[in-house]
Amino acid sequence: MRHHPTHELMSVFASGELPASLSIAVAAHLELCRDCQTTVDRITQQAAQQEFTTSSTSYQQDHEDDFADMIAQITQDDALFDAQIYSDKAVEQTIEFKGQHYTLPRALQSLVLQKPQKLGKLTRSRIDLQEGSLKTSLLHIEPGGSVPMHTHKGFELTLLLDGEFEDQMGKYQIGDFIWLTGEHEHTPTTTTGCLCFTVSNDALQFTQGISKLLNPIGQFIY
Ligand SMILES: [Zn+2]
Repeated sequence: MRHHPTHELMSVFASGELPASLSIAVAAHLELCRDCQTTVDRITQQAAQQEFTTSSTSYQQDHEDDFADMIAQITQDDALFDAQIYSDKAVEQTIEFKGQHYTLPRALQSLVLQKPQKLGKLTRSRIDLQEGSLKTSLLHIEPGGSVPMHTHKGFELTLLLDGEFEDQMGKYQIGDFIWLTGEHEHTPTTTTGCLCFTVSNDALQFTQGISKLLNPIGQFIY
């Protein structure tokens, strides 16, 4: 995995201030990325310590140490981490696209998907989080499918949940958290098919030849 949320994004995530769509995307990435999970645990721990120090000067130093020790134990206890993952497997749900079943990260399991819409090899299920211009979807692309060359008016976040795809910037693996803006122009293509969680704050803009005719359906995809 090469693509991760920025440290800044993880800090805002830890403080609980991200919009639901992005918070869900980061949470789902954390389930797939131990390194970022560790980073967020550290950020949370530091924030808790800071809060503790600034808001409760009357507390005894040893309480503060106990608290820090407790957090450290929780975040370092691999057995606890694994047990958590294991116990949640009992209730995991799958979703079907084109006869193939996919297991969704826990962060996505309680979301309500709208009726899937199809366009060629693309199938999209919108997730209505009531966030105005932020559009959230599950996007499935069948083997051999692609999205025509396009750029983005706002940003486009893609979290690759299953399968693989590639574009001008390289190949992506499961768990990759890909944040693109108007500076990026790309043509995602998949050989074996893929399932992505996407968040975008504006329609994508097709940029090449006949693809420009597709701009009215740019809103379909993201
Ligand atoms: Zn990561």
